[in-house]
Amino acid sequence: MPIVNRVAALAPEIAEWRHDLHAHPELQYDVQRTAGIVAEKLKAFGCDEVVPGLGRTGVVGVIHGRKGEADKVIGKVIGLRADMDALPIEEANDLPYKSTVAGKMHACGHDGHTAMLLGAARYLAETRNFAGTAVVIFQPAEEGGAGGKAMVQDGLMTRFGIDEVYGMHNYPGMPVGQFGIRAGAMMAATDTVIIDIEGVGAHAARPHLGVDTVLVGAQIVNAIQSIGSRNVDPLKSGVVSICMFHAGNTENVIPQTAQLRGTARSLAEDVRVLLEKRLHQVVEATAAAYGAKAKLTYARNYPVLVNHERETDFAASVAKQIAGADKVDTALPPMMGGEDFSFMLNERPGAFIWVGNGDSAGLHHPSYNFNDEVIPLGTSYWVKLVETALPG
Ligand SMILES: [Zn+2]
Ligand SMILES: [Zn+2]
Repeated sequence: MPIVNRVAALAPEIAEWRHDLHAHPELQYDVQRTAGIVAEKLKAFGCDEVVPGLGRTGVVGVIHGRKGEADKVIGKVIGLRADMDALPIEEANDLPYKSTVAGKMHACGHDGHTAMLLGAARYLAETRNFAGTAVVIFQPAEEGGAGGKAMVQDGLMTRFGIDEVYGMHNYPGMPVGQFGIRAGAMMAATDTVIIDIEGVGAHAARPHLGVDTVLVGAQIVNAIQSIGSRNVDPLKSGVVSICMFHAGNTENVIPQTAQLRGTARSLAEDVRVLLEKRLHQVVEATAAAYGAKAKLTYARNYPVLVNHERETDFAASVAKQIAGADKVDTALPPMMGGEDFSFMLNERPGAFIWVGNGDSAGLHHPSYNFNDEVIPLGTSYWVKLVETALPG
């Protein structure tokens, strides 16, 4: 019995919640409507405690097992985490529940993640077939706003006594019915790179009287390519991508200033340190070679997402119960995308797992949509995880 029967029965209703969230996307910490619905449903399901406003707009629900309050003493506390925020993208899908907000859409499937965890909360609150405590965590601002960090800083782990924490994300391109996971580093540290170049503005016809920041910027972009290819150990992973180049306002003026922006990604601390050090050297020395000045601002954002060994094995064993042993890839290659669940994994042991979203458009694409067929699998994974971790 791979899918939990009761969950299969709830799946159509969970899909309806998902569609409502999809039609009303909200960004970053401004997820008041979504968080309001989450808190209201958790209360209606009979959660023992519902705490809104953690990490600004995050919501936490507490569900004790069969023995109620006594489970506080006898059992472990397992945290399950979903994210609630959407993206500033204009939706290209023609769906009955298409985004009703111009320029915003659920293009990363957080509508599905929130709905599945709500479904699990309902099941767990109804059945209480475990000994211990399940804590359901709904975080804001996964997409660059570090909402996970904000919840941790607001005392998420200590206030609810969380012992282990688990996360799940859908994976376009992986068939529905499959899961993927790996122990150790699974997603990258994502750091912001901002380079401000100052030259000397001049008439375009008299370049010898100026210092051309467009030329200097171009040389910096080129020189940076050598960091990944010549400085990072070929057996390790590091990426620097410059994705913005802003300079000038017209075609006959050499601009005084230019700004480059990009991202630096790594899967290990030594590479992260190396990228920052080499960026400083390459950026400053290249600018100096042309008589310009350049200032690098390197901001550390999300840390590397590191799955803990024991909890990864456990999460994989639960996924195998749901999907079948041959449908769980436990050696999925890491990827250079980022995830702020990493802040939670830095506080408590746990694991992050991918669940196949089938042949959909990629994450953050205007034609992406979360696949409702994933709902019974993802929701069953959550409830089986709690029941297996906390046998009652
Ligand atoms: Zn995303
Ligand atoms: Zn996401």
